[in-house]
Amino acid sequence: DPTELIMKCIELGIVVSINSRLDFDTMSLLVEDYGYKAVPWAGVREVEEKKVEGFGPRPPIVTILGHVDHGKTTLLDYIRGSNIVAGEIGGITQRIGAYQVDSPYGKMTFIDTPGHYAFASMRARGAQVTDIAVLVVAWDDGVMPQTVEAISHAKASGVPIIVAINKMDIHGANPDKALQQLAEQGLIIEEWGGNTLWVPISAKTGDGVNRLLELIALLAETLELKANPNAKATGVVIESFLDRGRGPCATVLIKDGTLHKGDPIIVGAVPGKVRIMLNERLQEVKEAGPSTPVVIAGLDGLPQAGDKLMVVADEKEAKELAEIRTETTKETLKRAYPITLSTLKARLKENKAKEFNVIVKADSDGTREAVCDLIERLDFEEIKPRVIHAGVGDVNESDVLLAASSNAIILGFAVRTDRVAKQTAQKEGIEIRTYKLIYDLEDDLIAAMEGRLEPIIAETYIGTVEIKNIFRRDDNVTITGCYVQDGMVKRGAIAKLKRGGEIIAVGKVSNLKRYKDDVNEVQQGLECGIAFDGFPELFPDDIVDIYDRIETTRKLKKQQ
Ligand code: GDP
Repeated sequence: DPTELIMKCIELGIVVSINSRLDFDTMSLLVEDYGYKAVPWAGVREVEEKKVEGFGPRPPIVTILGHVDHGKTTLLDYIRGSNIVAGEIGGITQRIGAYQVDSPYGKMTFIDTPGHYAFASMRARGAQVTDIAVLVVAWDDGVMPQTVEAISHAKASGVPIIVAINKMDIHGANPDKALQQLAEQGLIIEEWGGNTLWVPISAKTGDGVNRLLELIALLAETLELKANPNAKATGVVIESFLDRGRGPCATVLIKDGTLHKGDPIIVGAVPGKVRIMLNERLQEVKEAGPSTPVVIAGLDGLPQAGDKLMVVADEKEAKELAEIRTETTKETLKRAYPITLSTLKARLKENKAKEFNVIVKADSDGTREAVCDLIERLDFEEIKPRVIHAGVGDVNESDVLLAASSNAIILGFAVRTDRVAKQTAQKEGIEIRTYKLIYDLEDDLIAAMEGRLEPIIAETYIGTVEIKNIFRRDDNVTITGCYVQDGMVKRGAIAKLKRGGEIIAVGKVSNLKRYKDDVNEVQQGLECGIAFDGFPELFPDDIVDIYDRIETTRKLKKQQ
């Protein structure tokens, strides 16, 4: 039943209509509930690696991570610019997104965009290209926020880390403080009983950089990175750009196999044929093997970073696949935070603790990821925040609709809310909070969650009234004339009718008047008109105690 399926999707945090196309993971999960198993149709399946003879080691692909100003770019530039192996004339002057060097310890490929934002956004798109992360930490600054973030990213993706303590050329340099702080982050060096590889370097003078390359090579060897140069090429787009003369171009890192000039390919949903292939020196090459970055031209459109390249049988197949993929991506709902089958399953089971659904919109992939991480960490016993969607870009109507259907609030970071979304939000009563800084989020979100919890209700005695006259009684409401014996009476307060010293009924002060005027409270010693709600028949001389109702929000205590 479509309605049932739509409901199941909404439980998973995916807003769909009857015409939506689901992605494979969601579909397989849904059909599993009905006792079926989903198998991908060959047309959209990634080509499985054929077991062709010829597997061999491939160069490691390295990403340089670290806090801003700790020397990532300087290190990349040094490695790029140094004449690492004699015979190369000068360094690489072109930047194509990645470069390969011929070090004394073998070839290695460096991703030329330092920092974890690019790393994270590639990963979010399902492309993991990095084999080894080099974490640059300036000895004088030590571990900084982005160092910690970088460690989390590397750990989350299972990429091993080599620590490079940088700026060792500065007078008085001492790596101990930084190493100590890294140990607190779980990166313990061998000398202290751990297994983290590290090296002191100066990215400026190049001291220690050779040792770093040696460590990369050593680690690569233990990782047994293998590929098959005889296979049909697969790769990942690192960058794409429009070239005036050549049209859409992409820098592709070959993951496996060898790409040849003339190969028919599909890149993401873009078909093409390798018309021109250039290396990082912008020299034409005829083929590119595993771990090699190349710029290719001959694409029918512009692919995105993280898109996968695959060699197909012919141009006809490329076109057909492109059509299927375009349709699929067009209709597949933009998915938040990399949702995998297992997280979907966990979600279906979970639903026990009270959930607080949030939708995140951020100005970049990096912020999005950082915000999601922060939110998922705010995990309380009473309530858990759950990111049901996280995207890059302005808050739009679809976000608001998703929020409405899942009782969520929307958090925006350095983004705006478009006009339609604003109107819809107003109509649907959806809260959109926007921030400029991530730091403001935590307290605010905790406060918002506290607001969702049942308040603690306390009653305090505030006064006693005596009933003098009964004027009228309709339904449940009795209009009386009263005298305030003690304290005061307030409109909206809780009223407890006492007879023979016992409370026999609890009602409410639904209206309060002094003479003809509505008032909010009347003090001791004065007469007033009170309409009591929820009392049985009243009589003169009845005594009513008045209580104030105080609601306090529950405070959340963070779990350790
Ligand atoms: P990034 O933000 O991590 O890419 O850092 P940069 O590579 O841009 O370096 C930031 C600053 O630190 C620049 O002024 C560099 O010249 C300086 N720097 C980088 N490495 C070293 C080093 O080994 N020694 C010294 N003295 N300065 C360095």
